[in-house]
Amino acid sequence: MTSVEQIDIAVIGAGLGGAAAAALLLNAGFSVHVFEQAPVFSRLGAGIHIGPNVMKIFRAIGLEDRLSRIGSHPDHWFSRDGLSGDYLSKIELGDYAKREYGAPYITIHRGDLHAEQIAALPEERLHFDHRLTDIVERDSDVLLSFANGKEVSAKLVIGADGINSMIREKLLGPEKPRFSGWVGHRALVNMDKLRATGLEYERCVKWWWEQSRHIMAYATKNDGSEYYYVTGVPVDGWTHEASFVDSSREEMEAIFGGSHPMVQGLIDATEEVTKWPFWNRDPMSLWSRGRLCLLGDACHPMRPHMAQGACMAIEDAAVLTRCLVATGTTDYRTAFAIYENTRRDRATKVQTISNANTWLKEPEDPAWVYAYDPINAALA
Ligand SMILES: Cc1cc2nc3c(=O)[nH]c(=O)nc-3n(C[C@H](O)[C@H](O)[C@H](O)COP(=O)(O)OP(=O)(O)OC[C@H]3O[C@@H](n4cnc5c(N)ncnc54)[C@H](O)[C@@H]3O)c2cc1C
Repeated sequence: MTSVEQIDIAVIGAGLGGAAAAALLLNAGFSVHVFEQAPVFSRLGAGIHIGPNVMKIFRAIGLEDRLSRIGSHPDHWFSRDGLSGDYLSKIELGDYAKREYGAPYITIHRGDLHAEQIAALPEERLHFDHRLTDIVERDSDVLLSFANGKEVSAKLVIGADGINSMIREKLLGPEKPRFSGWVGHRALVNMDKLRATGLEYERCVKWWWEQSRHIMAYATKNDGSEYYYVTGVPVDGWTHEASFVDSSREEMEAIFGGSHPMVQGLIDATEEVTKWPFWNRDPMSLWSRGRLCLLGDACHPMRPHMAQGACMAIEDAAVLTRCLVATGTTDYRTAFAIYENTRRDRATKVQTISNANTWLKEPEDPAWVYAYDPINAALA
């Protein structure tokens, strides 16, 4: 790009939400560029659930089959008591999800998912090493400045820049996210040690203790050769500057030791484990202003306990694209208003249930989440 390039739509952040927005907008025929602060993405050790609600969007992007081949397809989401192993709920997924919700439910390594999303974008549309540092709203465009000295003039700017979003700050002023009081430990376990337990690990299971302390464990590959867990543990505070720190098997033992033998098997198979703080914000009063619009964690961050944070970001991307298709970019104010009206209630409901950490602990019907079709649902 030259020093001040004129573009139509700038997406800030090529995370799971931003990459989806870029792909959908490009498919719809818009001229879009994505700007990402990271110089490159790496395969960090973590998994993610993608519900049928979002696999329908990946179908539209052309990635459903690839992701289905890579990811694991759990037949159920089980909830079990962490001490006794008693089943608290057994939610049907697998073929039932395909039939009743219209697409598969997968669990997958998030690096594998993200790599597929990034590979689907034309190279010339994706600009790594572009950290947005300044935003000037002008009458007919927005001037974006980046840490590398580049400047871009965009007609519309989509803030997909995560929980510490600069675009959110521009709309609502500086405000640090709140520490939720919870951390999550994340580990890909040693498969030889896990198999040596002789126990049969379910493809997707959430172990619960008192205070909703839990371990969510699942396969991240179709052939079951990779198994991952993430915890949710209440703590007194978070004092580290880093976005995550190392944890240890000893720490896992101190928190969860003496539990059901399958949980002990997970702890014994732990070699490397990291610890992440969960940050939060209250539902926001403003999703867009003028030519700036937010999606995903920039707009409605949540604790991850419903496994729907990224799914909401990707749903946002699909609905926002449809709104811009319906109105055209010139009438962006109407598009952004329809987008917020369509998304606000659903995203806020998911945010609230996620933060309460009650999802699927008891038998309940998840159809309102999984059967939703962001590609065809009515726009408000
Ligand atoms: C432990 C854990 C487990 C989770 N499990 C699930 C799950 O199973 N299912 C699910 O749906 N969700 C899950 N989530 C939630 C999910 O990870 C987030 O909701 C999702 O990543 C949000 O996507 P996003 O694109 O909005 O933001 P992000 O993924 O945070 O992406 C933002 C991007 O913007 C870039 N960026 C930031 N600032 C700038 C800047 N100034 N200039 C340029 N680029 C910038 C960042 O580098 C980043 O690439 C989980 C979260 C955690 C913490």
